[in-house]
Amino acid sequence: MLTFTHRTALVTGAGRGIGKAIAEALARHGVAVICVSKSADSCGAVAAAINASGGKAKALAVDVADGAAIAKAVEELQKEFPAIDILVNNAGITRDGLLFRMSDADWNDVISTNLTSCFHFCKLVGRPMTRARYGRIVNIASVSGIMGNAGQANYSAAKAGMIGLTKTLAREFAGRSVTVNAVAPGFIKTDMTTEFVNNPEASAKILEAVPLKRFGEAADIANMTAYLCSEEAGYITGQVFTVDGGMAM
Ligand code: NAP
Repeated sequence: MLTFTHRTALVTGAGRGIGKAIAEALARHGVAVICVSKSADSCGAVAAAINASGGKAKALAVDVADGAAIAKAVEELQKEFPAIDILVNNAGITRDGLLFRMSDADWNDVISTNLTSCFHFCKLVGRPMTRARYGRIVNIASVSGIMGNAGQANYSAAKAGMIGLTKTLAREFAGRSVTVNAVAPGFIKTDMTTEFVNNPEASAKILEAVPLKRFGEAADIANMTAYLCSEEAGYITGQVFTVDGGMAM
């Protein structure tokens, strides 16, 4: 069992997939979880299930690609939750295509949803953490941001950007005992990867590059993230943990 002493977490993209698994894992450890997603239905269902099973959760629908919406939402939240001790930047999208066919809109949507959102949340939620001299920030990057991936110029640039942001904020916040780490998933079975996982040819090709010869589960990412959010992980900062079945070693 990991230690969390009366902690509150904000998890973006908590409506489905990896973010849902992270929110549920933190809630099982007694953390009060603010579940953020784009649609009120998806974060609402996750928060309701956590509350129904004896945990504590609040749903919050925010478009994380909209900096002004994030600022308004965080300002409101801070009235109800003066201390948000844990921040998991997980919301993300893909708009894949080879560079010469990638539109400006596909570039901008991925950068604003996956990377600029992380900048806004770290700034707004990170400031009270530094004042409180305690905090855990985990940014969900990707092996695409480490290795690159043909067809994902926008996505791999956003994820590499998250890794740079993680390392810089780890240095900026270290004096205040706020740790900042990244988790870089490989291929995980979620809505984002359904088209590859359900395509026998595509999945066989992907699994050739995965030494453990299986796709990951959302729980594989949630387990690592929960550890990094726990009090036991207080001496770890500025690191990127690949959880990818050995793909990027
Ligand atoms: P997913 O199943 O598609 O879920 C994405 C979540 O992000 C949803 O809850 C969605 O909200 C939310 N979201 C997307 N755009 C948003 C926006 N503009 N505002 C607010 N919320 C938004 O994705 P996933 O596979 O769990 O991926 C989670 C993270 O892991 C992403 O950052 C992804 O890049 C990263 N990752 C995934 C894999 C993988 O193999 N799955 C691999 C590497 C990295 P709604 O529910 O409201 O739509």
